[in-house]
Amino acid sequence: MERVGFVGLGTMGAAMAANLVRAGYPLHVWNRTQGKAGPLVDMGAIEAGSPREVAAAADIVVVCVSDTPDVEAVLFGTDGISAGAAPGTLIVDCSTISPSATRSFAARLGDRSIAMVDAPVSGGSEGALHATLTIMVGGERADVERAHAVLAAMGRTITHMGPIGAGQATKAVNQVIICGSYLGVAEGIVLAMKAGLDPDTVVSALSGGAAQSWVLANRSGRMVEDRYPLGFKVTLHRKDLAIALDLAREAGVSLPVAGMAAQLENGLIAGGHGDEDMSALARSIRDLSGM
Ligand code: NAP
Repeated sequence: MERVGFVGLGTMGAAMAANLVRAGYPLHVWNRTQGKAGPLVDMGAIEAGSPREVAAAADIVVVCVSDTPDVEAVLFGTDGISAGAAPGTLIVDCSTISPSATRSFAARLGDRSIAMVDAPVSGGSEGALHATLTIMVGGERADVERAHAVLAAMGRTITHMGPIGAGQATKAVNQVIICGSYLGVAEGIVLAMKAGLDPDTVVSALSGGAAQSWVLANRSGRMVEDRYPLGFKVTLHRKDLAIALDLAREAGVSLPVAGMAAQLENGLIAGGHGDEDMSALARSIRDLSGM
């Protein structure tokens, strides 16, 4: 069994690392802010003093931090993973970051004979807890096959999308599609309420038809109540839309709905709602409609 390391024990990373311990992997872990490794150490993981120490003790290093500069910091910063990893080490980046930066990180690691796959996840904190994440993987086939057992301990649906960066590009597509769903449901719910319809009856009436969606089934209730507990933070989705809009510019694609969602999310963040669930897009539509 390969020795595994884990860098970044946030909401997602801590739960994913716990599933690796449960699967029997010898696991070295590190988090920037101290104190987050405690529950994992109680389960049998070993806390390291830096990403470099994690890499020195592992054959495969999983990374799950916030954004592109954060992945760069843990890979190449002082006491970073690349300083401790032996040639032949495999990095599995489960953060959601830029596809083009991912390709550049992989090339820099490749110069040191360190391999990398991008493996962003979808399925939220519940998926991380229950090891049911959907994982979209980019990289060389042999590296993806090598990462598979580790990914299978953390997720249920694992798809090799293509070369390095293809997992991140797929995650960007996911985030573009969901913002259209949220905005469409928000507009429909606000229209229903202002048109004098009972919104719950509208949701149940439409649930078997073409307007049916996960967002309509699971998030319309919050939009009716105008309460937006987490879920998935507006700030995180806004970060992901920035990645998607950059990718669209690089690919020569126009994304009017994603661009509008990004502007509405800017407004939510400026208004102090960045930590709400992204169904708070309905807050913006309500405001525009004088509700
Ligand atoms: P989180 O709870 O905010 O945790 C972020 C983690 O990254 C923390 O461990 C944080 O360390 C670490 N970190 C951030 N910047 C760092 C830096 N410069 N150097 C070292 N460590 C750094 O976020 P999360 O929800 O776990 O999300 C992690 C990734 O998964 C993100 O890319 C996110 O988009 C993606 N994701 C999240 C969800 C979700 O539902 N939450 C779903 C799918 C994908 P500290 O403890 O020191 O702050």
